[in-house]
This record gives sequence, C-alpha cells and structure tokens, in this order.
Amino acid sequence: MAAAGARGAGGETGLGTPATTEKRSLFGAPARYPGGWTEVGPGVHAWLQPNGDLGESNAGLVVGDGAAVLVDALWDERLTRRMLQGARELTDAPLTAAVLTHGDGDHCYGAHLLGEVETVATAAAAAQIAEERPAALAALQRAAAAGTAVARLPGAERALGDAAVVARYVARKFGPYRFAGLAPPPAPRRTFSGELELTAGGRTARLVEVGPAHSAGDLIVHVPDAAVVFAADVAFVGVTPIAWAGPIDNWRRALELVLSLEPAAIVPGHGPVCGAAELEALLRYWDWVEVASARGRAAGTGAYELARELLLAPEFAAAEWGGWDSPERLYVNLALIERTAAGRPLVRNPRDQLALFAGMARLDAELEARR
Ligand SMILES: [Zn+2]
Repeated sequence: MAAAGARGAGGETGLGTPATTEKRSLFGAPARYPGGWTEVGPGVHAWLQPNGDLGESNAGLVVGDGAAVLVDALWDERLTRRMLQGARELTDAPLTAAVLTHGDGDHCYGAHLLGEVETVATAAAAAQIAEERPAALAALQRAAAAGTAVARLPGAERALGDAAVVARYVARKFGPYRFAGLAPPPAPRRTFSGELELTAGGRTARLVEVGPAHSAGDLIVHVPDAAVVFAADVAFVGVTPIAWAGPIDNWRRALELVLSLEPAAIVPGHGPVCGAAELEALLRYWDWVEVASARGRAAGTGAYELARELLLAPEFAAAEWGGWDSPERLYVNLALIERTAAGRPLVRNPRDQLALFAGMARLDAELEARR
C-alpha cells in the first residue's frame, strides 16, 4: 500500500480525495452515491464518479497475486491520475494490462498515463481511438467559453438556432474537464475481435466484444471467479443512455448477455454499481424509444420534434426513466434509430456531432424553462 501522504495530491487538484471526502459530482451536484474505489467482489474494485453524467465515467481494477488489470482510463489526465493514485493505495501489484472498453474519450483519453502497460481494446474501438482528437474538444470548450463564437465552428451554420444556448450547454457539460494540451490517445497495444481471455496473477478477465451498440467497439469485462461484470457503456444507471453507433438490437443483446452471466455485481460505465433490475429497466427504455420512433416515422415526425414532444409530455416525468439525468439524449437516440432505419448510420464527424449537441442543447433549454 502506498503511504497515506499520497492522498494529498487530490487536494492539489481541488477535487479532494473522492473515496472519503467527495460529496459532490464533478458538476457540483450532491453525490447520489459515494465516489472513489469500492470493492465489488473479492479483489475486484470499481472506481465510481458520481453521478454518472457526461464524462463521469467509471473504471475498474482486478487484483491478482502480484499482478492487476485495470479497466478503462478517464476523460482527462487529472481525473485519471487521481484514479490511479487511489489504485496504488489498494494494491502494490503492478498493472500488467489495461482494458479500454471502447473508444469514447471518457474511457481512454487518460491512457497516456499508463506508460508501458499493455492496453487492450477491440479492433473497432482502436479504429475509433485513432480518429479521436481531444484538441477539437478543447477548441469547442474555448468557443463555448467565448459565448456565440461557437456559431463559427464547422456545422454550426445549419445546426444552431440559438448559438448562445448551445454555447451555454457545451460550457456546462464540458466544464469539469481539461482537454487543453491533451494529445490524441495512444493506440491500444493489443487488439482483438470477438473474445479474449486475459490472465493476471491467477485471475481471469474475459473480454467479450458486444459492439457496435453504444459505440463502434464496445466490450464487456467478465470476471468469472468474482461473478462481476464491467458492462461499460452498454449500462447507464440513473442517467439516460446514449447510442452513438447502434443498432439498438445489438445493445439489447449485450444487456441480455450480461444478464445471462448472472453476475453478483454489475459495474456500469456511468452510475452506481447495480444488478439485473437496472439492466432490465434499460431494456424497457429501449423498447419505449423504438416504439416511439416507429410511430414518429409513420407520422413523418422528425427525431427532434418527436424528442421534444415526448420529453415535454406530462407523462414523461412519471415514467421509469423520467428522473434519469440528461433526458435530452433521447434526441440522439431517436436520430440514430431513424438513420439506422433509413440505412444511414450516424457519422461521427464534428459537423454531425455538433448538430446533435445543438439539438440536445435546445431540448435541455426547453426542459429547463419548464422546471
Ligand atoms: Zn462513457
């Protein structure tokens, strides 16, 4: 175990030592569950960042005899460093591998700090990681901070009804993160498709590719001897899921696979440690979104109008997912299903992404006005 003095480093960041003192989310909201490392099975730990909203991603650690496997880095170096310092307090076993569950920045941008540790991802996630540009997020952050300057970004001319609304949304949602100066994430050293078994100090971690679903290259990590599954971003708890890749049928199959493993604990990509009930709720959410999308397409209602209608309907607040954070993600989910049905999957270029963010910003502003 590292000296207790290592805890001091957290204070320097202004974030405190999350396992013991953090009572607030990165956005400053009251934490709905404790942050930091928590043991979820024998020698299996989850790093939780309440409340699981944008960028508040979880990580994991599987500790064997003299070797440990990390699951995911975080969105920036400061957050990743804090998580790794906490890991050193849990065990002095060196990391022999680090699994990157998918290519979204909040699960891999901090991978620079892993040095020589062998990083492992699906080939599809590696392809996404090769395209990731933290500098683009830094530019968006700067533009948002400057208010309406966001209107000059590529895609803005068709995406923005009200540039100031989008600027406020982006400034708030990216507010806790430090992208300035961040280099593109390093390429995973080892890639695979399908399944891969990692062993470390007598422990086995089964990596199963389940994407494309949330993103192009999703995988889950099953630790059979502890009955723990790190479901990554096919599981969101207390926060609305967002589908960047789809199809939703794959997402459904991924959830069913996790359930079939009968885990004692499931670590979602965002939100608190959960069980089967939370995954079943996600399956019902996708049923609801798909039924609504089919109705909207039959009536010729576009994704944005449909999302607006559903979110502002009085019955939404009473729905099982009515209290989940970031309900405006419904727009992206409907847009994905609409495009998938038309044979045009969502494209992850900055123009399309800004258009999707602009839609979410407008919905968020409308919801805020109703509160
Ligand atoms: Zn994530």
